[in-house]
Amino acid sequence: MHLKSIWNYKCPRCRKGDMFVKPFDIKKPLDMPKACAHCAQVMEPEPGFYYGAMFLSYIISGFMFLIPGLTLIFLFKWTVNQAMLLVLVIAILSFLKLLRGSRALWLHLMIKYEGENVKKYGTK
Ligand SMILES: [Zn+2]
Repeated sequence: MHLKSIWNYKCPRCRKGDMFVKPFDIKKPLDMPKACAHCAQVMEPEPGFYYGAMFLSYIISGFMFLIPGLTLIFLFKWTVNQAMLLVLVIAILSFLKLLRGSRALWLHLMIKYEGENVKKYGTK
């Protein structure tokens, strides 16, 4: 697991290629290349591969929203509505990061880093 390359959506196999199409298009936030431009790692190994990423984002967002929400209510005596409002703001701000990040995390969980050996196995 390499947090920096997950955060920057780098290919898990070589950590050099990009997992998402650049430049960023707001209408297609999840547009991915078919394969990594650097090591030819396939970005969607099988149909429905990223269903698993949805569950990851559920879990991550659950913690991300629940912990600050409950902390504010119980420790700082915010009302539930105030805390909900803040959680909503966090949700909107983090939506895209979470959407892409959970895909990146998922692919990183499934595919091992091959470092300098990567060219030996790559098709290019
Ligand atoms: Zn790669």
